[in-house]
Amino acid sequence: MLNIRIEKTDHPKQKPQKGEKLGFGHIFTDHMFVMNYTEGRGWHDARVVPFDRVSLSPAAMVFHYGQEMFEGLKAYAGKDGNAYLFRPDMNAKRANASNDRLCIPRIPEEDFVQAVKAVVDVDRDWIPTDPGTSLYVRPFIIATDEFLGVAPSKTYLFFIILSPSGAYYASGLAPVGIWIEDEYVRAVRGGIGFAKTGGNYAASLIAQVKAHDGGFSQVLWLDGVERKYIEEVGAMNIFFKIDGKILTPALNGSILPGVTRNTVLQLARQWGMEVEERRISADELLEAAHSGRLEEVFGTGTAAVISPVGRLRFKDEIITIGDGKIGEVTQKLYDEITGIQYGLLPDPNGWRVQV
Ligand SMILES: *Cc1c(COP(=O)(O)O)cnc(C)c1O
Repeated sequence: MLNIRIEKTDHPKQKPQKGEKLGFGHIFTDHMFVMNYTEGRGWHDARVVPFDRVSLSPAAMVFHYGQEMFEGLKAYAGKDGNAYLFRPDMNAKRANASNDRLCIPRIPEEDFVQAVKAVVDVDRDWIPTDPGTSLYVRPFIIATDEFLGVAPSKTYLFFIILSPSGAYYASGLAPVGIWIEDEYVRAVRGGIGFAKTGGNYAASLIAQVKAHDGGFSQVLWLDGVERKYIEEVGAMNIFFKIDGKILTPALNGSILPGVTRNTVLQLARQWGMEVEERRISADELLEAAHSGRLEEVFGTGTAAVISPVGRLRFKDEIITIGDGKIGEVTQKLYDEITGIQYGLLPDPNGWRVQV
C-alpha cells in the first residue's frame, strides 16, 4: 500500500470541450503521478503533483542506453457517472515482466494499480464522455543515474501521465492496410520483444516509414530468424479467421503479450469458437487467401481495441480481405469489448475496475 501525497495545481488548464476533436496523445491533464527509486531504499515518495517538465542530467542513463519501460491502458466514463479501468492488473503484471527483462526494479502489482487509480481519481473530470473517447493512461519508468557506464541504473523515476483521447474510428470501424515486412525485423527470441519498451519502437520506425511510403498504415512483422512466421503489428497483436477458426501467433518471447489479445482469446473460447495459438507462416496465410479461406483479419490493442484489416501486402502481392467490409467476428468482438469497457454490457469476467 503506497502512501501517496497529493498536491493539486493552482493553475488548472482549460479542458477540451464536449465534441472537440481530441486525436491521440497531444493533450495532457493537470496532474501526474511520480515516484522515485533509490537503491537500498526502494520505491519512495509516491505523489500526485501538477503536470510539469522534469529536470534530468544530460548524462541520465535513459538517454544513452534506453533503460526504460512503459505501459498503456485507458480510463472510461461509465454511463453511471463512475470512472472505470479495464483489467489494470494485467498491465501491472506485464509491467513487472518488462521490468525483470530490463533490470528495472519491480513495483508491487497492487501499488501499480493504486497509483493509476490515484492519478485518474484526481483528474477524473478530464475523462471525456463523447462516444468512443477515453482517458489514455501512460505509466513509464526511466533510469536516472548520472553515469555513462553500461550497467543497470541505481535510481529510477516512475511516472503516470494522462491524455484524453478521441474515438479511434471517427465514423465506425474502418479497415486498414497492412504491410508484411520482409527485410527489417522488430525482435528476436531472447531479445526484448515481449517487453513494452522504447527500444522495440526505435527498431520499428524505419519499416513504418517504408510501409507509409508504400501506402499502408501499419507493419506486420515476421519472425527475426527465418522471416517466415507472422509475429505482430507495430502496436497490435494480429488475428486471422481461417475456415471459421480463430488463429493468432503463439507467444514465443518476441511477441508483446497484449491485454486485448488475451481478452479476445478468452471471449472467443467462451463463445465456443475454435481457437488456435500457434506458429502461422506468411505462406500459410497467402495460401488461405488464394483458396478463399481467409475470412477475417484484425489487430488488437488498447488504442483501437479491434482494428479490421482490409488489405495485406506481401512482397509483390496485395491481398484484399472481405471486399473492404468488416468481418462478423471482428465487429462482434469490438462491440462486446467496448460494451464492457463503457459499462453498456454485463461484465461476467469481472474485467471492469471502478476508480
Ligand atoms: C502495447 C502493445 C500491443 C498491444 O497490447 P495491449 O495490451 O492489447 O494494448 C501489441 N504490440 C506491441 C508491440 C505493443 O507495444
